[in-house]
Amino acid sequence: MKNLTSLLCGLLALFFNVSFGQTYWQQAVKYKMNVEMDVETFQYSGDQELVYTNNSPDVLKRVFYHLYFNAFQPGSEMAVRVKTGKDKNTRFKIEIDSLKTDEKGFLLVSNLKQDGVFLKSKMSETILEVDLANPLLPGESTVLTLNFNGQVPLLIRRSGRNSKEGVALSMAQWYPKMAEYDYDGWNAEPYLGREFHGVWGDFDVTLKLDKKYVVAASGYIQNPKKVGHGYSDKKGKAKKGKLTWHFVAPNVHDFTWSADPDYIHDIYAGPNNVVLHFFYKNNPKIIDGWKRLQPKTAELMSFYNQAVGEYPYNQYTVAQGGDGGMEYAMMTLITGERTFGSLVGVTAHELAHSWFQHILATNEMKHEWMDEGFTTYISTMAVDKILEKQKTFPIESSYRGYLYLAQSGLEQPQQTNANRYEHNMAYEITAYNKGAVFLGQLGYIIGADKLTTTLKEYYNEF
Ligand SMILES: [Zn+2]
Repeated sequence: MKNLTSLLCGLLALFFNVSFGQTYWQQAVKYKMNVEMDVETFQYSGDQELVYTNNSPDVLKRVFYHLYFNAFQPGSEMAVRVKTGKDKNTRFKIEIDSLKTDEKGFLLVSNLKQDGVFLKSKMSETILEVDLANPLLPGESTVLTLNFNGQVPLLIRRSGRNSKEGVALSMAQWYPKMAEYDYDGWNAEPYLGREFHGVWGDFDVTLKLDKKYVVAASGYIQNPKKVGHGYSDKKGKAKKGKLTWHFVAPNVHDFTWSADPDYIHDIYAGPNNVVLHFFYKNNPKIIDGWKRLQPKTAELMSFYNQAVGEYPYNQYTVAQGGDGGMEYAMMTLITGERTFGSLVGVTAHELAHSWFQHILATNEMKHEWMDEGFTTYISTMAVDKILEKQKTFPIESSYRGYLYLAQSGLEQPQQTNANRYEHNMAYEITAYNKGAVFLGQLGYIIGADKLTTTLKEYYNEF
């Protein structure tokens, strides 16, 4: 039934705003960053060299950076948004307006240059708008350099310090990050606590911090013998003071890390020679669950390899940190004090994002349901198989959630910008449940086997 598959790909293409036959382009980044963290003050500083390549057909006179940590300040747009939403976003447990000077977050840029020439920039909270000295022509690259300094906020949402479970540093969206330029132009959206979109490229990052800390990160460790801590059999070479960790992450659109002095670091062999890393607190209550999670993570990865397509990196990391669970490039940060079912469930969900957010990389601000919904669908199927739940209809709860929204009168169009839903509940159900229902209904119409073919085709072509 090749024709049917083509037709469905065509149908899906309508949702992606891109036809498969059209010439596709994407911008490219190459980051080199050296960062030093003070674990007493939670302040950090660094330098960044960014080779930015314009593969678009357009001449670029400006670029935009995200400075996400500036959202964690009293009076920020995110603080206002969380307060004035029509229903409470229960994921925010700390009032941002109550943050003291040493508890808030910030990220500031200085010394910004293009190919050695100083640049003018304008900061508006989480967005830095930069006028280029020399317009960047199609097909050309330019080197942007800068210094940055920041403060890690209390853990309010995803990133931050001293999580409730005691993880010292959850470092997501922590560096000056080039905004994505694509078919829709610049995606320079303010950060209001929702989703992320980024430019693919290579990251070379060194992190210098107190030698007692163990670091989990996107990317492959480059100096395993020097750092020890489970990255090699050696004990590590740091005697006193700070230790430098060097990581390289190729072809990703994000670089995240976490660190804690009490991390246990385990390594488990995943499918196709993928190395699975696990970092969790040395807390007797959770160790058994985190050990049992390791073979299940390997099984989950095998499930997605078969159901969607092969995982293209050689490493994946599950680290305790953040709040709830969030997907990052080649890793996830999840809270760790959970029942075993919940631990497997959250890992299944965040790992599935490796396909829908980190490989297919839908713009979640505009098409959040295609990431969260497809991830929900496939991870629910995976958990049903791996935990042998054998439900007749595994995604029933997604349908129930959607029915609740549909009957509430608060539903908004599926393409509403993720930041701009009137009700938080409507956003959550639209993204997660209704997105999963989309695939459920498609499978109902064309048959489960054809849905599997369609998902694989989507992965292969896109
Ligand atoms: Zn998700």
